[in-house]
Amino acid sequence: MPERDVIIVGAGFTGLVAASELAKAGLDVLLLEARSRVGGKVESAILANGRRVDTGGQFFCRDMPQLMALIETHGTIPVMAYADGETVFRPPVSPAEGRDLWQRVDALRERMIAADPDPDLAGLTVAAWVARQDIPANVAQGFLRLVKGLWCRSPDEISFTYLASNDRRITNTHSELEMFLAGTMHGLAERIAASLDHRLRLNACVTHVDRSPDGVTVKVEQERLSARKLILALPPSMTRRLSFSPALPAPLNRALAAWGAGDAIKVHVTYARPFWRAHALNGSVLWQEPQGLYACDASHGEHSGLVVFIGGPLAAEWHGRSREELRAFILDLLADAFGPEAGHPQEIHIRDWVADPWSGGAYSDVIVDLDAADAEDLLNRGAPPVYFASSELSPSFPGYIEGAIVAGQQVAGRVLSNIRQGIATSWQG
Ligand SMILES: Cc1cc2nc3c(=O)[nH]c(=O)nc-3n(C[C@H](O)[C@H](O)[C@H](O)COP(=O)(O)OP(=O)(O)OC[C@H]3O[C@@H](n4cnc5c(N)ncnc54)[C@H](O)[C@@H]3O)c2cc1C
Repeated sequence: MPERDVIIVGAGFTGLVAASELAKAGLDVLLLEARSRVGGKVESAILANGRRVDTGGQFFCRDMPQLMALIETHGTIPVMAYADGETVFRPPVSPAEGRDLWQRVDALRERMIAADPDPDLAGLTVAAWVARQDIPANVAQGFLRLVKGLWCRSPDEISFTYLASNDRRITNTHSELEMFLAGTMHGLAERIAASLDHRLRLNACVTHVDRSPDGVTVKVEQERLSARKLILALPPSMTRRLSFSPALPAPLNRALAAWGAGDAIKVHVTYARPFWRAHALNGSVLWQEPQGLYACDASHGEHSGLVVFIGGPLAAEWHGRSREELRAFILDLLADAFGPEAGHPQEIHIRDWVADPWSGGAYSDVIVDLDAADAEDLLNRGAPPVYFASSELSPSFPGYIEGAIVAGQQVAGRVLSNIRQGIATSWQG
C-alpha cells in the first residue's frame, strides 16, 4: 500500500502550485526538491546595497491572470517598471526608425503564429522558415535576434511548428516586463512553500522511479518513498535524466528527448541613480547586434539599476569565459548606449544559468527535434500514475511563470479527478 497520495518532484512554480492545490483538496502530498531552496528558475540574491533582487524569473503583466491572482492571495506588492521615455536602439537608429523596424518584426511574428499547421512547414527550423519569407534583411535579422533573446537557442535548431504553437499561447497585449514584485518573485515562491510546511522536503534529489498501475516508488539517495500518483514537475530536459522501471514507453522517451535547454545569463547593474531618465530614456536597450541582448530599467525605491539579459548562442559563448571579461563587455555596451556614466556602476551581479544542473540553462526548454510534432501532447497525457508537468507544457504562457502556475493547476486537477474516480470505482466495487 503506497505511503501517501501524491509525490511531486520539483519545487519550481509548477510543483509548488500543484502541491498546494492538492493539499488544499485534502490529499496527503509530499513535494521533493533537489536544491536547498524552492523556486527553481525563480531565485533571488542580496546585492551589496542590501536590495534583494530576482536573479531568475521576475517580470509579469496584467494579462497573466493566474499569477495576478496568486500575487493578490499572498498579499505581495507589484511595482510598475519604469517605462517613460525612449528606448535606445543599437546599432543607432532614430526612435521612429527603431519603432518601425520592431513593428515589422512583430508583424513577422504574427505571420508565424498565423501560419497554418501546413505539412509543408513541418520539419523546418525557424531560420529556414525566415529564409522563405519575402522580407527586408534587417527585419529577418531583427526576428532572429528576438528568437535568440526570448527562446534562448539558435533559430537554426528550433522547430518552426513548435515555435509557432508556443508563441500562439503567449497572448499578452501589455509588455511582459510591465511589473515585478517589490519583495521578489522568489519571495512569492517562498510564501507558497511556507504554506506547505512539512509536506516539502529540500535537498531531496530524485534519481529513479519504480512504477506500477497501483502506484510509484521514488528513490532519494538510499531512501524509497511511495505514493499512489507521481507528478514530475520538471522541465523535460531534467525529467529525461531520471531512470524508470519499467522503462517509459518508447514514444514518451522520444517526446522527452525532443527538447533542448536554452542558454541565458541575467545581469543586474546597480547605479547611484537612474541617470538615463534625465535624458528622457526609459532604460531599455534593444541590440540588433550583438544578437540576443536586451536591457531594461529595474529600479525600485532606493535601488537604481538595469537588468541585462543575454540569451541564446551569445550566452553560450560567454558561459565559461571570465567574469571580468563579461563585466567589461557589458559595461562597454551600456556606455555605448547611455554614455560614460553607465561605465561606472556600483555593482554588477551576474547569474549564469547556462547548463544549470537542476533547471537547464534558460527561461524554458525548446523543441529541437524537427519530427517531434506530438511531443507536448504525449507528455501532457503522461503515463499514469506518472504525470509530467512544467511551464513548457502549459496551454498558456509556456516558458513563463504564468505558464508554470497554469501547468501546476492543470496537473493537480487531472490527478485529483483520477484519484476521485479511482475511489468511486472501489466504492462501487
Ligand atoms: C534568468 C531567467 C529569467 C526569467 N525571467 C522570467 C520573467 O521575467 N518572467 C517570467 O514569467 N518567466 C521568466 N523566466 C521563466 C520562468 O522562471 C520559468 O518558466 C518558470 O519559473 C519555470 O517553472 P517550473 O516549475 O516549470 O520549472 P523550474 O523552475 O525549472 O522548476 C523545476 C524544479 O525541479 C527541481 N529538480 C530538478 N531535477 C530534480 C530532481 N531530480 N529531483 C528533485 N528536484 C529536481 C529544480 O531544482 C527546480 O526547483 C525566467 C527564467 C530564467 C532562468
